[in-house]
Amino acid sequence: MWQNNRHNSGLASNSKEDFSQHVRNIPDFPQKGIIFRDITGLLRNGPVFKRAIDAIAGHHVEQAIDTVVSIEARGFIIGSALGYRLGSGVVPVRKKGKLPWQVYRKSYNLEYGQDHLEIHQDAIEPGTNVLIVDDVIATGGTVQAVAELIKEMKGNIVGASFLIELTDLNGRDKIKDIPVFSLIKY
Ligand code: AMP
Repeated sequence: MWQNNRHNSGLASNSKEDFSQHVRNIPDFPQKGIIFRDITGLLRNGPVFKRAIDAIAGHHVEQAIDTVVSIEARGFIIGSALGYRLGSGVVPVRKKGKLPWQVYRKSYNLEYGQDHLEIHQDAIEPGTNVLIVDDVIATGGTVQAVAELIKEMKGNIVGASFLIELTDLNGRDKIKDIPVFSLIKY
């Protein structure tokens, strides 16, 4: 059965590879003082992208994840690949006004700016094992808002995974009760 197969997928649980060499650092984008971590180079390199996804997936393969909840927009790229690799469903969390059906909404603070996130009201069944995925955890405001949404929907958050963690910003402190994994740390 597909659900059982994902526990025997042969994925390694650890990767020693330094993926940061595929990330471009762009100072003062989108505003002064921010170093933007540009992952497009990592994404366009097929073997590197595959190893990165496999390395993250390997960390979660034993967790019986039902649903990967990923965050617009770059989070969708990582979250979709991970969901496919883990045999999990994928649920989008989107910016305000993008989802077509009834939504739950949370406001959140970004490293730069403030916005609202939305999820379809029927996206998470109570008791569903959820993995939250985004490209970057910076201040943690985004993932905190998503975690609150999922908890209110009675989802069971088993972890939060990121390609990149900006450790100076202590984002993981905002979701202390959730195990955090990140492939690249700055
Ligand atoms: P935060 O809510 O502060 O953890 O910010 C996380 C979100 O903002 C992620 O969805 C990232 O895509 C984006 N983000 C924040 N800081 C950066 C950065 N320095 N480089 C690239 N993306 C970032």
